[in-house]
Amino acid sequence: MNPDQLLQLDRKHVWHPYSGMGTGPVFPVVGAEAVRLTLADGRQLIDGMASWWCAIHGYRHPVLDKAVEDQLGNMAHVMFGGLTHPPAVKLARELVKLTPTPLEKVFFTDSGSVAVEVAMKMAIQYWHSLGQSRQHFLTVRNGYHGDTFGAMSVCDPVTGMHTLFQGSLARQFFAPPPEPAFGETCEDRHLMEFEGLMERHHQDIAAVILEPIVQGAGGMRFYSADYLRRVRRLCDEHDVLLILDEIATGFGRTGKLFACEHGAVSPDILCLGKALTGGYMTLAATLATRRISDAISNHPPGVFMHGPTFMANPLACNLALASIGLLLDSHWQASVARIQKTLESGLAPCRDLPGVKEVRVLGAIGVVELKQPVDMQQIQPAFVDRGVWVRPFGRLVYLMPPFIINDDDLNTLCQAVVQVIHQHT
Ligand SMILES: *Cc1c(COP(=O)(O)O)cnc(C)c1O
Repeated sequence: MNPDQLLQLDRKHVWHPYSGMGTGPVFPVVGAEAVRLTLADGRQLIDGMASWWCAIHGYRHPVLDKAVEDQLGNMAHVMFGGLTHPPAVKLARELVKLTPTPLEKVFFTDSGSVAVEVAMKMAIQYWHSLGQSRQHFLTVRNGYHGDTFGAMSVCDPVTGMHTLFQGSLARQFFAPPPEPAFGETCEDRHLMEFEGLMERHHQDIAAVILEPIVQGAGGMRFYSADYLRRVRRLCDEHDVLLILDEIATGFGRTGKLFACEHGAVSPDILCLGKALTGGYMTLAATLATRRISDAISNHPPGVFMHGPTFMANPLACNLALASIGLLLDSHWQASVARIQKTLESGLAPCRDLPGVKEVRVLGAIGVVELKQPVDMQQIQPAFVDRGVWVRPFGRLVYLMPPFIINDDDLNTLCQAVVQVIHQHT
């Protein structure tokens, strides 16, 4: 099949994320190594997206390749009902060790959205076990937690398209997005509405759910660690659980292993995904405290009502172990700090462009917020023509490269962003 035939069939039969059938440019990719994607026509692109936060070690890493091969020699998959295996148990132990102390029970799922569903179901079932019916969640606007129905119900109502799915979505409580930016202090007034909702409705609220520090796909904003700390305190005062969704931020992206560490906050339930396997396979995890697992296990029905077919897939678990090992053995903090510095200097010229509203950088995340949404039909090929892979959405052009990227490649990425925004906004 030549690239033209491939694209023709793709347009005819294949959906892409957030796309109409056959709309928008897509590029056939035939390989990837380290920080470069190879297109079918032989062109190489420097990857600025890490495949949506995931590929922190780059592509075709020998250690990760080997983790798959080794596990293939044992078994690719086996059901998790009534069976267990070393990759799952070792990974659970490792995740418990790395995450904040009270988290010690791990539920494996196959995608981030499902990890969020599981977190929400756990919170509801926890209160059910204690004889309370708490069926709702409190969150902030501009959030993103996934595309399944439970997750969608706590996404930003506008970008999460609540009107379109109105009849099917659970109704949740929404406070304004966190106003103080990262590094700023949080005043009482910043939490007034949040606190008001909590005071009025805490008996109906199973949990608060937030993305700590970085609001990802809902707007790429970085907010105050102080805000997060105060939310934790409010949850404690009103006896409401706290779910932190670290699916995007986990495994070093913000400069801490987990973003909640910026505020020294520990959640009752934690969702992990995306970079968990270094971007090789789909795997996610929901961690909970013993208080939650005890309540659920010791009261009728006595079982947690969830069990995905591919739960704890051994290939994915072995990969996650290898990826975490690689990360911890590397100088990831120095790499992320270096990337932050290069993104700051490299993207700074964007501040002088008339189409740009704000430039912000945290850890290995660089964001250029524009005044108007980009035209993807134009801007996507413009990036490819410059030899980089950058995929903007709405008014946001952003970079979150693999941690292994060197400064030359990162500067090329930044220059492409500056030039493309200059020419196309
Ligand atoms: C990507 C993401 C999800 C959803 O994960 P999927 O694997 O796409 O289902 C949930 N929460 C956050 C914060 C995310 O960034």
